[in-house]
Amino acid sequence: MGVIRKTKKVEALRQMFAETDKAISVVTLVDTLKGSMNKSTVYRILERLEEDGIVHSFNDTDGLKWYASCKGCSEKEHSDAHPHFKCTHCGNMECLPVDVQIPTISEYAIESSEIILVGECADCRA
Ligand SMILES: [Zn+2]
Ligand SMILES: [Zn+2]
Ligand SMILES: [Zn+2]
Repeated sequence: MGVIRKTKKVEALRQMFAETDKAISVVTLVDTLKGSMNKSTVYRILERLEEDGIVHSFNDTDGLKWYASCKGCSEKEHSDAHPHFKCTHCGNMECLPVDVQIPTISEYAIESSEIILVGECADCRA
């Protein structure tokens, strides 16, 4: 368990999330870190960080995977039931700190939901 957690590579990834409150796509993560680690290492570390409740992941409307820092999650449970916002202008993806009401549909068991809101962010509109 603790082996991978202490490496410089893990720290490099954690640092990227510590420096922003925005989500980062896997493409950007792999590209930014390509000088120090290969793609499968990036994927493996992301998986571990997600298991540890440090980051959460979601897919956007193009099927691209994104990761963002968790707030108050633990290795036992993720509580990231918030929607995400993608700006069509600057391409930024953010976590939105709002609650979404998931509908109940009789005879269906809903396990998760991913809501991506698309539009123009506050920075771009300013
Ligand atoms: Zn989480
Ligand atoms: Zn924007
Ligand atoms: Zn999020």
